[in-house]
Amino acid sequence: MIIVLKPEATAETANELLDKIAAKGLKPLHMPGIERVVIGALGDERVLAELALDSHPMVRSLKPILAPYKLVSRELHPHDTIVRLGKVAIGGRGFCVIAGPCAVETREQTRNTALIAKKAGAHALRAGAYKPRTSPYTFQGHGLDGLKILRAIGDELDLPVVTEVMETSDVGVVADHADALQIGARNMQNYALLKAVGRAGKPVLLKRGMAAKVEDLLLAAEYLLAEGNEQVILCERGIRTFETATRNTLDLNAIPYIKQKTHLPVLVDPSHGTGVRDLVTPMSLAAAACGADGLLVEVHEDPAKAWSDGAQSLYPGGFEQLMQSLRPVVRAVGRELA
Ligand code: PEP
Ligand code: MN
Repeated sequence: MIIVLKPEATAETANELLDKIAAKGLKPLHMPGIERVVIGALGDERVLAELALDSHPMVRSLKPILAPYKLVSRELHPHDTIVRLGKVAIGGRGFCVIAGPCAVETREQTRNTALIAKKAGAHALRAGAYKPRTSPYTFQGHGLDGLKILRAIGDELDLPVVTEVMETSDVGVVADHADALQIGARNMQNYALLKAVGRAGKPVLLKRGMAAKVEDLLLAAEYLLAEGNEQVILCERGIRTFETATRNTLDLNAIPYIKQKTHLPVLVDPSHGTGVRDLVTPMSLAAAACGADGLLVEVHEDPAKAWSDGAQSLYPGGFEQLMQSLRPVVRAVGRELA
């Protein structure tokens, strides 16, 4: 519920109401503005009704938040959230490209690929140390050794690093090494992991589950914000449909929809979204055109030798071309590729 106070309401009145909301076991929100004070109450609306706020002399109006997600909704927070990964801002006017190999394979492969990404203009490096693989017999990632490699290369090349965390028990060690924590598609509804990552104090890149509705994604993000972490980036990475020509169906409808419904930035991952190298650049341009705040793209120094996701990874030259062809599209929609 959004509770708008009368202009003459004092800070004491606001505090008194916030205390009453908290005493009922609801989550109080304080949103002081220049012209008026707005407060919020999240939780069971029947309990809220017991406070009879509509008859309080200093309450001007009550507005229910209609969406099932609250903290992530634009109804509660009309302005865009900008997430900061070191010096890189995600959201706002800039268009951000996070790139890297699917996995940290070796120090050399990760470093060479990071150099290629940086030279072509990528803003951040992403590679997996803990890999969620469909088959248990495929490469599962180097774990802590991979994190150390990634951190060292991020520091050397001055690139913020993003990497996936799969287990609640690994959140601490991943947060110690990464600038942002990725929650992968397969874990989007792992609520224990969402809560632990929400408390880790680092920005989060939350990928849409392959069978998740947009509403499910936004409710998963709500878990992170409910733990006090507003630095959340959403990522559309394709969903399973009846179509089998591509690995997934990249749902670009979701991008303008998400931008309308929430204040959080949203990236597109055309690599997992298509699974096909030749489709990555066209879908990247489409993502920029429809309002995405950036991309998450897989690139590899030698995709033919990649230990995972080689078929969808761009060659170094392909990544350079992508960055060049993005520039005019990004500009055409009023954004800037830094
Ligand atoms: C990845 O980003 O490498 C990955 C495993 O992606 P997803 O969780 O979207 O499948
Ligand atoms: Mn991958």
